[in-house]
Amino acid sequence: MSHVPRPIGILGGTFDPIHHGHLRPALELLEMLQLAEVRFIPCRIPAHRGTPHITAEQRFELVQLAIAGQPDFVADDRELRREGTSYMVDTLASLREDFGQETPLCLIVGADAFRELYTWHRWRDMTRLAHIVVMQRPGASQPVPSVLEEWIAPRRVHEALMLHGKPAGSILFQPVTQLDISATQIRVLLARGQSPRYLLPEAVLAYIADRTLYRRLPVLNPLT
Ligand code: ATP
Repeated sequence: MSHVPRPIGILGGTFDPIHHGHLRPALELLEMLQLAEVRFIPCRIPAHRGTPHITAEQRFELVQLAIAGQPDFVADDRELRREGTSYMVDTLASLREDFGQETPLCLIVGADAFRELYTWHRWRDMTRLAHIVVMQRPGASQPVPSVLEEWIAPRRVHEALMLHGKPAGSILFQPVTQLDISATQIRVLLARGQSPRYLLPEAVLAYIADRTLYRRLPVLNPLT
């Protein structure tokens, strides 16, 4: 009998810096969806936002520090090794090459990122390469744009185990513990000389403190 491998979770992001709002939901998805692993993939050049506040190598190092010791969490630097804008569809194609045609791939996105999905490069191709798992994130829940609604309907599944049956093509909305933490909030605290302790792992905070990162106030400041 052929054995289908367990799905791989893929959490892409700017991780500027990584925080507990990324880590705790990722662990819950690893367990609830019975994933083989969750791969954290920091982008080199984000497609939809300004230049990150620290280098891609620093953001990747912070990811490594944050997940050290957690079995089945993997730091993946493939976007750092690619030239040009980091498009998720290219990342999924490269993962598909590595993991073969049978392994289910699950692209994990927060509900806020998911609402913007139709603006992503070749977004309709993403469900040819992977499933999409949408994590509920705190904040006013805005309606999904109608172009997405029509696209979701035929793909939506309500059972985590449905993601195990085929390699790609389904969309699952999965509630996770709501942690109202954002990298923006952490950068604002640091720029103000306040402590972001307990919003992110101690090892990540120590690295930031050692190198006095994030000392300039971000241009966008939602806390003022
Ligand atoms: P910023 O505040 O700089 O916009 P961020 O905290 O949203 O950053 P990203 O690296 O952009 O972090 O997020 C990567 C992915 O993790 C996105 O899909 C995003 O929706 C999701 N995410 C980030 N924070 C949370 C959170 N607190 N709960 C659930 N999902 C989250």
